[in-house]
Parts: sequence; structure tokens; C-alpha cells
Amino acid sequence: MKKTKVLFVSSEVDPFAKSGGLADVAASLPKALNGLGQDVRVVMPKYKNIPQQYVEEMEYLGYVYVDISWRHQFCGIMKYESDGVVYYFLDNEYYFGRDGYYGYDDEAERFAFFSKALLSMLPVIDFKPDIIHCNDWQTGTVSLLLKANYKSNDFYKDIKTVFTIHNLKYQGVFPKEVLGEVLGLGWEYFTPDGIEFFDTVNYLKAGLVYSDLITTVSKTYAEEIKTDFFGERLNNVLNRRSQDLYGILNGIDMESNDPARDGRIYASFSADNLEGKLTNKQMLQQSLGLPERIDIPVIGIISRLVDQKGFDLINYVMDDLLNMDIQLVILGAGEYKYEQALKHYQEKYQGKLSVNLKYDALLSQRIYAGSDMFLMPSLFEPCGLSQMFSLRYGTIPIVRETGGLKDTITQYNDITHEGNGFTFTRYNAHDMLYAVKEAVHFYYHRSTWNWLMKKGMAVDFSWEKSAKEYLDLYRKVVSKK
Ligand code: ADP
Repeated sequence: MKKTKVLFVSSEVDPFAKSGGLADVAASLPKALNGLGQDVRVVMPKYKNIPQQYVEEMEYLGYVYVDISWRHQFCGIMKYESDGVVYYFLDNEYYFGRDGYYGYDDEAERFAFFSKALLSMLPVIDFKPDIIHCNDWQTGTVSLLLKANYKSNDFYKDIKTVFTIHNLKYQGVFPKEVLGEVLGLGWEYFTPDGIEFFDTVNYLKAGLVYSDLITTVSKTYAEEIKTDFFGERLNNVLNRRSQDLYGILNGIDMESNDPARDGRIYASFSADNLEGKLTNKQMLQQSLGLPERIDIPVIGIISRLVDQKGFDLINYVMDDLLNMDIQLVILGAGEYKYEQALKHYQEKYQGKLSVNLKYDALLSQRIYAGSDMFLMPSLFEPCGLSQMFSLRYGTIPIVRETGGLKDTITQYNDITHEGNGFTFTRYNAHDMLYAVKEAVHFYYHRSTWNWLMKKGMAVDFSWEKSAKEYLDLYRKVVSKK
């Protein structure tokens, strides 16, 4: 069958730039699809913070000029190749020569620039994709701009678009003037079935309305977002497009996240030889200044500190949690209110609680490897990767049954031996506490716990299955008139 050519568009791609799960997906999915014989190339902004080792290897391909706002902006096109994937980096000092990736006042303009530039670069790099696959609000206007400005040109007329929602909560909502002043489009697009959203413009909504097909990152989340509670005021739009909305679970990179071969952790281990897991636990405790006690459970949390992740539940029962004979290790960065609360508890529970308020990829890996349990009580969770990383490293997840958590983790049943973790349904702190206590109870049943660890480590979360589902959808959308 003919190769499907895809331009995969993402505002972050691991290992070049990462703030969350999107970067993991953008790193793994194109690789997996190319493994299936397709031609998937990736494009992202050339941020200032991309590690130098990659920048040095980039090749300059050419440039385009982009009209944006009143500016006529230069955009350099750089290329880097690794593991069978071609990456394009769009270079503009004014928009991307800044620290970090997001959070600036001119986000509407920065990502409109990115979107226009990537469309304009295609003839220059001589790549005519069958599909442009966009991800999250930063890339939401690509399908709209393609329709409005490029479709009349022969080169672009057959290109289809797919849009993936990694998190519906972040939408890129801006004053309506952005439509003309930044995107350069007329008011005919400012309608309820266009980009208009409560008298503002909404980049994510543009992606939902103008793309040929929509996906999100788990089957459960695909259903949830059609409801008022999870729909973030876009549930009506999603219901209107429900025929074109699919849920495909993310995978993880099973090779770079293999405890038997992972050079980042303190000792390697596998389901057949779990000894190294204990070394990881001890070394983690030592490095974080916790008493080296291998007899009690270590519970890990690695997360953005935002409402979505259930920190209000954790804070609410923090005293109950830490009055148990456990250790709690938290790695996270995010909202001030949560950082403050965690600092407070850190003072109160020295020797039991380790709070690490930063983004630290190395420590995260060591927490996955060195913890016994992983707590993830999300209010909502489109897919969630951390629970899969945990299982891979023999760390048993305790999760709330929502979105992708519900699709990957099921409650352990001591009679039937079904299940791979501990779960609770209602968003309630005491229900969460009960699930933690249940996990701790089984932790002391060493044979059960060892069996659970081995079972978790054997689960196949590789991208292959999901990549095949994406490929089926790509083929479907290409054949769509
Ligand atoms: P989300 O994308 O909503 O943040 P996911 O579970 O899908 O949640 O993905 C989060 C990813 O980011 C995981 O790879 C996790 O290990 C990583 N991560 C989150 N916070 C940190 C942190 N403070 N330091 C290192 N890695 C982190």
C-alpha cells in the first residue's frame, strides 16, 4: 500500500522541549508510524532552550517570510534527523528566542506565526503531505488557515487535517481582534460554527471545527468530553462532530523506558529479577534524605501541580496519609497555591515526605523505579502516561477512574486476581485515602505484591497498536472527499 505522508505538528517534542505528555507522544508516535512504513515528519518551534547538542546537528534548509499582525517576519527552516524521523524546526528569534515555551502575552501571535510558517514552508522543503496532523490549541488554527489562505493553490488543495486533543482544558482563548489583526482573517469566520467562542476567538475550537477528523487520547475521554462536566464549554461542538471524533490511547516508548536497560536509574531490574528495584528504592531514599527503610511503602507522585491532578484531595488528607507508616515522594512544578501547601507539609513531615518543586527528568525516572506505588488522583485525565511508566517499573498505580486512567488501570481483585492497581471512582479525598490504605494492605502480602509487580511490568503499552489505529484513521481521512 502507498506510504501515507504526514506532517506532525506539535509545540513540544521530547527530547527537544517538554512540559508534559504531549512531548512524549510527539516523540513516540511518528517513530512508531515510520516503523510501520509511513513517512511521518515532525515540525516544532526552534525554542531557545533546545539542548545545544541537537542545535549543533541541525541543517539549514531555507527560509520563508510570514505576514503576521503588522509584521513581515523571517522564518528559518532547520532540519534534524534521528531514529528514522525527520524533524523541522522553525526559527524566529523574536517569537522563540525566549526562555521556556509558553506563558507570554503574545501567545496568539507566536502560535499563529508557527502555524502560518509551517504551512508556507511546505513547497520550500518540497514535502507535500497527505495529512497535517495537529495537536492541541497551539496548532488549532492550522486547519482554518489552510482552508482560508492556501486551498486555492494546487499544491495544498488535497491536504487533509487531523486534530488531536491532548487536553481540552487549554484552549488558547483570545480577544476577537486577534482574528483580523493576527490571523489576518475576515469576520466571516467569527460565527458560532466557526472560530467564535463567547465573543472571543478560540484556537482549539478552530481545530475542532475545521479539521477533517478529530482524535483524543483515550476512548473514555472521547466520551467524557461530550458531556457538560468534562466538555469545557466545547461539548456542543464535539457532539456536533461526534461522527468524526475518535479515542486512541497513547502508548509509551517501551525501549527507552525499560528498567532492564535504563541507564538513568540506580540499578537495573526486570520481572525475573526484582532485586535491583530494592536498590533503587534505597538509593532514592538516600538521595532525598529519607530514612533508608525498605520495609515500608514509598509512594511516588510526579505531576504538574495543577487542579486537574487532584492535589486538593491529597492536601485534604495529607495528615492522614503521613500518619501512616509510609514515605511520600513528590516531584512537581506548577501553581503557587500547591507549591506553598506542599512546602508547609514538607516542614511538618520531615523524614517522611520529600517535596521536590521542579521539573527534573532524571529524578522522575528514579522515582518511577524506586517507588512501590504511584498516586494519581486526577479530576480528569485525557490519557495519562505516568501510570504506564509506573507499571513498567513495577510501581503499582493508585488512580481515580477517569479518562485514560480508567482505560489502563483496573482495581485489583484478591479473589479473581484481576486488575493491575488500586482505583476509586468519586472525586473524594476519603475514597482516595481508602484506596491508598488498600494498596498498603496488599503491599504487606509480599507474594501478592510481587505478583502484581510482575504482572504490571508485563503489560504491553507500546505504541504499535495505537499507531496502527492512527494509520487506519489516516487512510480513512485521505479517502474522504
Ligand atoms: P500531563 O501531560 O497532563 O502533564 P501525563 O501523565 O500525560 O500528564 O504526562 C506527564 C509527563 O510529564 C510524564 O512523562 C511525567 O513523567 C512528566 N512530568 C510531569 N511533571 C514532571 C516533573 N516535575 N519533572 C519531570 N517530569 C515530569
